[in-house]
Formats: sequence, C-alpha cells, structure tokens
Amino acid sequence: MEHSTGPGPLKLPQAPREYAALIDGAFIPASDRETIARDNPAHNHPVSLYPKATQEDLRRALSAARRSFDAGVWAGRSGADRARILLRVADLIERHRTELREIECLEVGKPIGLVDREIGGAIAHWEYAATMARHCYGDSYDTFGDQSLGFVMRYPVGVVSMITPWNYPLMINSQKLPFALAVGCSAVVKPSELTSGSALRLGELLMEAGLPAGVVNIIAGTGLDLGEGLCTAPEVDMVSFTGSTAVGRKIAALAGQHLKKVSLELGGKSAQIVCADADLATAAEKVALGATRNAGQACVGGTRLLVERLIAESFLQQVKDHMATLRIGDPLDAETTMGPLVSATQKARVEEYLAAGDRDGAQRWTLETPGLSLPGHFVAPTIFTGVDSAMSIAQEEIFGPVLCVQPFDGFHDAVALANSTRYGLAAGIWTRDISKAMQFARHVAAGNIEVNTFLAGVPELPIVGHRDSGLGSERGRNAVQEFTELKTFKLQLDPV
Ligand code: NAD
Repeated sequence: MEHSTGPGPLKLPQAPREYAALIDGAFIPASDRETIARDNPAHNHPVSLYPKATQEDLRRALSAARRSFDAGVWAGRSGADRARILLRVADLIERHRTELREIECLEVGKPIGLVDREIGGAIAHWEYAATMARHCYGDSYDTFGDQSLGFVMRYPVGVVSMITPWNYPLMINSQKLPFALAVGCSAVVKPSELTSGSALRLGELLMEAGLPAGVVNIIAGTGLDLGEGLCTAPEVDMVSFTGSTAVGRKIAALAGQHLKKVSLELGGKSAQIVCADADLATAAEKVALGATRNAGQACVGGTRLLVERLIAESFLQQVKDHMATLRIGDPLDAETTMGPLVSATQKARVEEYLAAGDRDGAQRWTLETPGLSLPGHFVAPTIFTGVDSAMSIAQEEIFGPVLCVQPFDGFHDAVALANSTRYGLAAGIWTRDISKAMQFARHVAAGNIEVNTFLAGVPELPIVGHRDSGLGSERGRNAVQEFTELKTFKLQLDPV
C-alpha cells in the first residue's frame, strides 16, 4: 500500500466536531446526553465534543463485547478472514488519513507533520497484525512413548478492556487493537478523555471494514468514572493499559483482586548514552529530537543525556544548536516541528519540575522562543546541567521538553547512572564500537535499546517495559501471546 505524505496547513473548525460512542455496532450519544468538551491546546479553541459514557453505557459496552465473544462471531472465524478485515481497516485509515491527522493535530496539539508520520505507523501496525492473524499456533510433542501425543494450543483470552493515554492516541490504540483482533478477542476501548476523537472515528472505520457488531466497543470518559468497571467487571478477561506508572499500579491492583490478566505499558526516564567515539553530529541531532519530540510527551523520550565527560561541553553545544532549529508554534502549520503541551495541567506539572530543578541547584538553560504569541500551553525546550541522580528531575518522568545532563567517566559509571532510576523503558547508545554497544545493551536495565538511532519503533519489534515501566509487552510476534491463553491436550492412542 502506498503511504502518502505531505500535509498542508490546517484551519481551526468553526464549531466543535461531535462524536458518538460505538456500542454493539451502533453509534450513540451518552445515555444521559452528557458530553466532554475538548479545546485545542495551542489556541484554546473548542474542537471536539465526546459523549461522556455513563455506567449504563459502560455496562452495555461490556456485555456487547462479552456476547460477541461467547457467540464466536469473530473468534470463530478463520485467521484468513480476520486478516482480510484488518487489512481493510489499514486501507480505510490510509484513505481517511487527512481527516485523522486533523483530528489528532487539533486535539493533541501535535504538529501536523509529526501526526502524519504517526498515522503511517498506525497503518503499519494494522498491516503487520493482519499477518499475525494467520500465525496463531502452538506446540506439539511426540515424546511420551508411542501411545500418547501432546499439544499446546493458543486461544484468544476473551474480552479485553483497553485503556489508553493522550500522547499518541491512534498509534497506541493501533498497538493493541489489531493484535487482539488478530487472535479473535473482543474489546472495549476507553481512550483518554483529552483525546478521544481518533478512537471514536476509528470505530466508524471498523464497522465500515465489516467487523461484526459488538466485537469492538469504544466509549469516552474519565478513568475515575470508568476505570474500575473496566478493570473488575465479570465480562472482562484482560486489561491492557498504557499510561502513567501511578495509574498502572492502581489498575494492576484492581485487576489482581479479580485475577484478570493484565498488561501494562508505563512511564519512562530513558537515558541516551553518548560515548566520545560516536558519530557526534548524528547523536546530537537525535538527542535533541529524543528530548523534544511531541514536546517531550513521549514515553520512550530520551530525557536523560549521559555523555562522556571528555566531550560533554562541546557535545552539549551541538545539542543546543539542534534545539535552536526547532520551529515552535502552531501545530496546524506544516512547518512547525514542536507544539504545546497537551493541557494546562500538564504545563503546570512541568513547571513544578523546572522549579524543583532550580531549588535543587541544577543549572537551567532555556531556548529562547521570540515571536511565540499563541495563548496555549507552550513550554520552551530546557536543559539542566549540574544534575545529581538524587534530584527529582533526574528520577521522575517530567513529560515535557526537558533534558537532564549527567557526564560519565567510563563504562561502569555510565551503566550505574543509566540504571539509577526505577524506570526501565528505553535507552539509546551512541558509539562506533559494536562490542561496547552490546555490553551497554546487556547491562542497561531497559526493555528497548537502540544503538546509533533513537525513536525508530517498528511493529515487528515489541515494546517492553522493565522495572516500573511495565508488565508484559506489545507489538511484534509476542503480541499474539499477550492476547491468548494456553490450553494443553493430551491424547491417548490405541496400540497398533
Ligand atoms: P494516565 O495514566 O493519566 O492516563 C492513561 C489512561 O488511564 C487514560 O485513559 C485515563 O483516563 C485512564 N485512567 C486515569 N486514571 C485511571 C484510574 N484510576 N483507573 C483506570 N483508568 C484510569 O496517563 P496519561 O497522562 O494519559 O499519559 C501519559 C503517560 O502514559 C506517561 O506516563 C507515559 O510515559 C505513558 N505512556 C507509556 C507508553 C508505553 O508504551 N510505555 C506509551 C505512551 C504513554
């Protein structure tokens, strides 16, 4: 399939777009007609109205998913049939690419060029998951003597509650939903209450692609209102969550009480380790990008720069030079490369960390952004030096365009610094010495290691959170395992 690129400039809508929930194949408002209003975070201009699901809506969505699964309307189909529908969804996302990128640009405040790449990534996940629909297989054993055989088969886990965040809405739903559908699961999806538009629109595309009613249900609302039901209802077999570590802990506790399977993709504080022998020009460009992409609101963002002391000063200047080339401003403009933070709350949170860094004695450098006159939630790219591992800016996920720099002396010092937080999501390693790179990869406690590249996710490679960054994995061949359960068969044969 050809993936088109090249978005043009966008306009703010005259009136907010109204969305409907998808429950049991029908597009409906909330049962009490309440809505959630969403403003564009660059202009504070109203852009979307989502139906605010009630407890009754939640119950209906859960029982529709359960009924569809138990009736086998999807799980009972062949993998080839399921693959065809997933490919149709990929095709429909491509055909509605312009509309979807507008939705995400307006709701997230992400520059439209960046959203375009995200949509290409989402399509790639639907296409890849379609191949997985035909690769759900188990093991066989003929090792018990000549009168027995054994098989291990995989079956869909059942109904999956999917709870997802605001930072990459279409992408993260596309890291879960097509893989669960590939193996025959049914789902209730609850996107973030800040950015539900692309998920609700995706629901319409799923129906257009021919997915049977009830297999996927999509409702909008807060975690506070809907979270408990999604994690504990008897209709649910598994909870698949992406979001903060704090909420992940709550979800694991709720799911645990009810013995639901759970997968958690959580926060990060990822290190980029730059050795003196690296291609420093490329490393500087990617370090600047890794800290500022999506205004620093990326789980795998490289928010800690660990740089060999010998080159620390000159390398940091190169990083600053790259940050200075960012076009910060209106995400609707195709030339913009960094937009605002998603909300006033997120901006206040980042500003608290900036103040904490100052209080703790770190030195702050802020990129000047003259001419930025929009009223939205902008924070300029910021670099802290003089950072100690004990400081909160070195330990906690800030989720803004803030880079903390710590020089290192030698391999062991770099590994100790890299592993000095409770997170374990990603790490970037920059060196021309492959042996050193592989030793770093072995010793750095992170699920996703990139060598001489950063932020280059592909559907074949799972995303894995170690330590406080998660449980389980997503994407890749392993996704099939995440959304299935094993069943063993032992057969006794008659003697011949
Ligand atoms: P969040 O944890 O606040 O919310 C995520 C989702 O959980 C939302 O849909 C929200 O409504 C819901 N929720 C909130 N409270 C809940 C509760 N008590 N019970 C059930 N659901 C609840 O996260 P966020 O602010 O939307 O997203 C940012 C976070 O997501 C960051 O920590 C980031 O690192 C993480 N993230 C991780 C990955 C990954 O793959 N590891 C990817 C993207 C984002």
